Amino acid sequence: MSPVTALTIVGAGPAGASAALGARAADPSLEVTLLDRADFPRDKSCGDGVAPHVLDLLEGVGVTGLLDDREPVTTLSLTRGGRGVERLMARPAYVVPRTVLDARLVEAAQAAGATLVRHRVRDLAELDEAAVVVGADGAHSVLRKALGQPQGATALAIRGYAPTPAGHEGTQRIVFGGADGADGRGGPQPTYAWSFDRGDGLANVGYGELLRDGHRAPTKARLLARLEELLPGSTAGGTDWVGHHLPLSTAHWHPADGRVLLVGDAAGLVNPMTGEGIFYAVATGLAAGRAAAEAIAAGDPASAGRRYARATRPILARHLRHTALASRLCRSGRVLDAGLRASARDQRVFDDLVELGLARGRITPSLARALATSYLAPTR
Ligand SMILES: Cc1cc2nc3c(=O)[nH]c(=O)nc-3n(C[C@H](O)[C@H](O)[C@H](O)COP(=O)(O)OP(=O)(O)OC[C@H]3O[C@@H](n4cnc5c(N)ncnc54)[C@H](O)[C@@H]3O)c2cc1C
Repeated sequence: MSPVTALTIVGAGPAGASAALGARAADPSLEVTLLDRADFPRDKSCGDGVAPHVLDLLEGVGVTGLLDDREPVTTLSLTRGGRGVERLMARPAYVVPRTVLDARLVEAAQAAGATLVRHRVRDLAELDEAAVVVGADGAHSVLRKALGQPQGATALAIRGYAPTPAGHEGTQRIVFGGADGADGRGGPQPTYAWSFDRGDGLANVGYGELLRDGHRAPTKARLLARLEELLPGSTAGGTDWVGHHLPLSTAHWHPADGRVLLVGDAAGLVNPMTGEGIFYAVATGLAAGRAAAEAIAAGDPASAGRRYARATRPILARHLRHTALASRLCRSGRVLDAGLRASARDQRVFDDLVELGLARGRITPSLARALATSYLAPTR
């Protein structure tokens, strides 16, 4: 039996499951199939940080209480060279192993009427019979390649699980590496290590860096050594070390016209400042699912791309320009330090930076002013 239906979604991670939820919310009678090469629950290398905005989006399609049984994370600590800021976030976030989060999202999609089929897609041609195809097949997307869409800058990161050190419960810690080659390696900057408390005695710990054209990708040993340098002791007792690529977003993103829509990592949507991608995956997944359902209902599947572009522009266009600029600025250690000092002085600056890094925030005028003032102020 062919696993293809009117709306066929390739990949059942957060982007694919959200596409199914968006489509079934728009048209509860639409046949929706989610294809994934893996059985669920399945692991995915990730920092497991889930912004509260993700839950807001899911509530919009009737998925409520998804993480009610999880311990929220209230505090974010950002440091570089031993200095930085630790503050309560405006709204708590969650740290949820992807074996848990993704399985729950797939269950929600199935409860909404989507069918999950285990199947590895090798080529777009297999999906000719589908009216609309959503490519939610992650960082190494087969569908992106089939559409001939270019891959932008990519980062590589590794994560594992280790006991949460005493005193760091309820906290997401990020430690930035040296910038401007200040770590004496002249390596790709900025880099960062993290330790995110899961609330169950374990923390998700990891380290990531930008890949540079013409340079060999860092080995697992090097990534772990850099993690240990930035967060001493964090790898002790660690298990489940898995690395993965992060396709970083650029200033401009235009979904293609037509019946094949790319979402989440397959669309190259990972925040270049923070490596966050789940918010974009859910936001674009929901929008693509709705666009597909509307296009099919209108008898014009080829209009799906145009509808998807129209729906995502207000969410992403300005935000992506601002994160591209912010991530370029962060390559300067002086700017990064100025941002940390300004956030330490003013909760609003901190909140604006968090919004830019986790969801759809932008460089607000007050954030820009605070950064400039902090940058120009003499430091001790
Ligand atoms: C180390 C690391 C840390 C990160 N930390 C965070 C974080 O803390 N917070 C955050 O928001 N983001 C983080 N990210 C980014 C986040 O993991 C991704 O942005 C997110 O997983 C994107 O979701 P997705 O659904 O687009 O893709 P995925 O989650 O990768 O799902 C893709 C699905 O497609 C399936 N698939 C792939 N190819 C095929 C095929 N050919 N046929 C059928 N199925 C296929 C896969 O099995 C998979 O289930 C991190 C990434 C890494 C690597």
